[in-house]
Amino acid sequence: MGGPARPALSAGERALARTDYDLVTLGAGSGGVRASRASASLGARVAVAEERDLGGTCVNVGCIPKKLLVYASHYARDFEDASAYGWSAGAPRHDFARLVANKDREIARLNGVYARLLDDAGVARIEGRARIADPHTVEVAGRRITAEHLLVATGGWPVRPTFPGAEHCITSNEVFHLPGLPRRVAIVGGGYIAVEFAGILHGLGARVHQLYRGPLFLRGFDDDLRRGLAAEMRKQGVDLRFDARVARVDREGDALRVTLEDGDRLEVDCVLAAIGRAPQTADLGLEEAGVALRENGAVAVDAYSRSSVPSIWAVGDVTDRINLTPVAIHEGAALARTIFGGAPTRPDHENVPSAVFSHPAIGTVGLTEAEARRRHGDVDVYRASFRPLRHTLTGRDETTLVKLVVDAASDRVLGCHMLGPEAGEIIQGLAVAVRCGATKAQFDATIGIHPTTAEEFVTLREKVA
Ligand SMILES: Cc1cc2nc3c(=O)[nH]c(=O)nc-3n(C[C@H](O)[C@H](O)[C@H](O)COP(=O)(O)OP(=O)(O)OC[C@H]3O[C@@H](n4cnc5c(N)ncnc54)[C@H](O)[C@@H]3O)c2cc1C
Repeated sequence: MGGPARPALSAGERALARTDYDLVTLGAGSGGVRASRASASLGARVAVAEERDLGGTCVNVGCIPKKLLVYASHYARDFEDASAYGWSAGAPRHDFARLVANKDREIARLNGVYARLLDDAGVARIEGRARIADPHTVEVAGRRITAEHLLVATGGWPVRPTFPGAEHCITSNEVFHLPGLPRRVAIVGGGYIAVEFAGILHGLGARVHQLYRGPLFLRGFDDDLRRGLAAEMRKQGVDLRFDARVARVDREGDALRVTLEDGDRLEVDCVLAAIGRAPQTADLGLEEAGVALRENGAVAVDAYSRSSVPSIWAVGDVTDRINLTPVAIHEGAALARTIFGGAPTRPDHENVPSAVFSHPAIGTVGLTEAEARRRHGDVDVYRASFRPLRHTLTGRDETTLVKLVVDAASDRVLGCHMLGPEAGEIIQGLAVAVRCGATKAQFDATIGIHPTTAEEFVTLREKVA
C-alpha cells in the first residue's frame, strides 16, 4: 500500500484536471460526510453518492434514534422512583406509536441538516447506489463520474443468523420501525446493540429474553462491568441467558417459537437478531478494481486509510477498525488533511472512549484490567461499588461501580471503567485525562465535585488488586 497522498491540486491544476471531481465518496454516513465536507473546505471538488438516507447508520438506524429510545425507556423507572420523592400521579401509560412518530420527525429533520451541511460546503449530492468501475470512475444513477480519488465509506450491515427460521427475525434496521411494542421479545446476541435493546424494550414494558451463545456478554469490555451489568439486568427482570444457542425459530400463528439447542423453548412475538455487523463491500466493484479486502470483507487500509489501490481510500465501519461514529468522523477528517491538506495524518485509534447505553449504562476508556495485565504485567486496581445517592430514598437495589486500572511502574492510569447512570457523560471527561497520560497521583490530587458519582474516581484510595 502506498504512503500519504500528494497535496491538493492548485486552482490552475484543477481547471486542467481531466476528472469530474477531485474526490467522489461512496456513502454519506458519519465518515463519508465528514471526509467530503472537510475535503471541500480545503478546496477540493467533491461529490458524494448515497443510496439511502443522508447521515447513514448513526442518524437513521443507529446512535441517534437508539439514544432517543433509551431516553423513552428510562421514564418507566423514573415514574416508579418519583413517589419516594413525594410525587404522585396517575398510572403512566405509554404510546409507542407517538414515540416512533416523534423519533421519525427528528430523524427527518437531521436528514435535512445533513443535506444543508453538504450543500453549504459545496459538495455535490448524488442519489443512488454507487459502484466502482475503475480506480478513477464510479457508476451511479446511470452516470459515470470520474475523480482523482475515490473514498469508500459504505459502512456496515447487520449480519443475519443462519439457523432455520432466521427469516422470522428482525435486525437493528427494522427494530426502529416496529408497528407496536411487542409484548414478548427474544434478543439474540451479546454485543452492545443487543444489550441496549434489551434495556430499551424491557424499560418500555416488554418481557425480554436475551440469548447469548458465549459465557458472558459484552466481550472486550472490563469483566467487572460485564458481570455487574448482567447482575443488574437480572435484578430488573430481564431473562438473560448465557451459553444459550438458538436452534431454530418457527412461526406459530401470531407468535414465534424459539427453540434452543438445549431443547428449551420460548414463545415470543418478536425475535431481534443482533449478532454482529459486516462491512458493506459486496458488489461495489472493489475486487475488480484491485482493492484488497480482509477475510471478513473489510477494505484493507494502511495507517492513512489508503487501500491497496493508490487512488482508492476507505474510512469508517467498512474498514472494521473501531466501529463507532466519532471514530469514522475522525478518520474522515484525517483523510481530508492527508489528501488535500498537504499534511499526511494518521487517524489515532488509541484510548477511544465508548459507552453502552444499557440500564445502568457503561462508560469506558483505556485498557480493561485483563488487557492491562497482558500488556503491562504489574497493574494496580482500584474499585468501588455503592448504591447511588438517588436510590437511598427510592430503595431501588442498584449498584454503581467505578474502577481504575493503573500501571504499577509508572502510576499512569491505563483504564477508567464505570457502570452506573450517566457513565458515558462521566467517562468522556476522564478520557481527556487518560489521553494526557494522567497518573493516579494526579487523579488523587484532583478535588471532587460533591455529591456526585464522578467524584468517586478521584477518591479511590484502596487497592483491591
Ligand atoms: C443500532 C446501532 C446503534 C449504534 N450506536 C452507536 C452509538 O451509540 N455510538 C457510536 O459511536 N456508534 C454507534 N453505532 C455505530 C455507528 O452507527 C457507526 O459506527 C457509524 O455509523 C459508521 O459510520 P460510516 O460512515 O462508516 O458508515 P454508515 O454511517 O453506515 O454510512 C454508510 C452509508 O453508505 C451508504 N451506502 C452503502 N453502500 C452504498 C453504495 N454502494 N452507494 C451509495 N451509498 C452507499 C449507506 O446507505 C450509508 O448511508 C451504532 C450502530 C448501530 C447499528
